[in-house]
Amino acid sequence: MQQYDVIIIGAGPSGAIASKTCAEKGLSALLLEKYGIPRFKLCGGAVSMSALSHLDFGIEKDLIERECYGERVHFKNHQIEVRRKSRMAILVSRDKFDAFLVSKAVDAGVELHEVEKAISISPKQSKIVVETNKEKYNAKVVIGADGVNSIVSKYVRESYTPDELGLCIAAEIPASNEDVNEYIENAVDIHYGIAKFGYGWVFPKEKHFSVGVGGILSSMKNPRNTFMTFLKELGFSTDVITHAHLIPSGGYEREVCSDRIILVGDAAGFVDPFYGGGIKYAFISGKLAAERVVESCENDEFSKSALDSYKGLCRTMFGENLKYSLRLTRLMNEYPNIFFRLLSSNKQVIDKGFEVSAGEMEYKEYVRWFIPRVPYFMLKTLLPF
Ligand SMILES: Cc1cc2nc3c(=O)[nH]c(=O)nc-3n(C[C@H](O)[C@H](O)[C@H](O)COP(=O)(O)OP(=O)(O)OC[C@H]3O[C@@H](n4cnc5c(N)ncnc54)[C@H](O)[C@@H]3O)c2cc1C
Repeated sequence: MQQYDVIIIGAGPSGAIASKTCAEKGLSALLLEKYGIPRFKLCGGAVSMSALSHLDFGIEKDLIERECYGERVHFKNHQIEVRRKSRMAILVSRDKFDAFLVSKAVDAGVELHEVEKAISISPKQSKIVVETNKEKYNAKVVIGADGVNSIVSKYVRESYTPDELGLCIAAEIPASNEDVNEYIENAVDIHYGIAKFGYGWVFPKEKHFSVGVGGILSSMKNPRNTFMTFLKELGFSTDVITHAHLIPSGGYEREVCSDRIILVGDAAGFVDPFYGGGIKYAFISGKLAAERVVESCENDEFSKSALDSYKGLCRTMFGENLKYSLRLTRLMNEYPNIFFRLLSSNKQVIDKGFEVSAGEMEYKEYVRWFIPRVPYFMLKTLLPF
């Protein structure tokens, strides 16, 4: 049976960065991916500048389909568009973007096994055994980077409840680049009030739009109808191939380690509940987990209590931010009419929100800035002065 220091299950952004970091530090690393790469991944593909700042390499120009300098926000009959001078995000197609990240891991020395699905893992006293549809492997430790439906997480924590999950339904709608630019150029289009704890989006891409609706799973009673209505209202054809995908909500206190196992990215639930963005946290957690694994290999210490320092680091780096994001999301769903009207009618509220999405401001600061100003913004919204 082949032996590795670490086996990383899942070759999305978290698995690519975790495995790359492990290999760079001299560990023998096996990266397992159940699909052939590039593989399709349903996603808006907005990668914030803040997310990119956590990579130690640049992104190839060809991967950048559009740049994002602003947002057009809609709520009922209100609409507001805000632009910034600095680039907030790039828009990519995840198949190509993720394949690029994986190529960086392979360049660093990671052994990649594509079209090989992990089926079970068995932690033992002195090793952990990973069984796939093809082989069995031994390792010292496993990093579970296998996304929202993670099988690795079953060895670590309870499954997500329907309240902790979002359901997204989306489609890629072909269009000429001229039509894409005419609809929205270098910005994203966000529609609130479409789904509870979520929104509808239109993101411009290369010769297509990424259009979707996402909301909390427990309240998405008929997602397809919601999506079709959204498409019709925007004037898009409803004759499209739709895909649905779950997304976990961050901000909850969850176990992310057990003996010889660490979870990262969506498998750990590290997603911003307000925007639904998880790529940044996939990068950060992938790197932190790899660094923890390197230390464990040096000390030959793989117990949950040793690995748990990773959980503390995640809490410090972004855990509190996700908690405040969840509080803000709950607040806005408690009072949607007030919240979204304020958001869609006050440039300042969105401007500050941009600072959060750009990673320049924490949700905690935003909430502390926003709450005391609600009466002022209410008056401003109701009385045009
Ligand atoms: C509709 C939608 C839109 C989104 N839009 C954005 C956005 O615009 N910006 C943003 O930042 N985030 C967005 N997200 C969230 C983002 O997609 C995730 O947070 C991110 O992909 C997490 O990366 P990951 O590596 O943890 O997991 P994933 O990207 O899900 O990768 C997991 C990988 O593991 C593989 N895998 C699973 N099980 C096994 C197994 N048993 N064996 C081997 N391989 C396995 C999968 O095939 C997959 O390749 C969106 C999510 C959805 C659903």
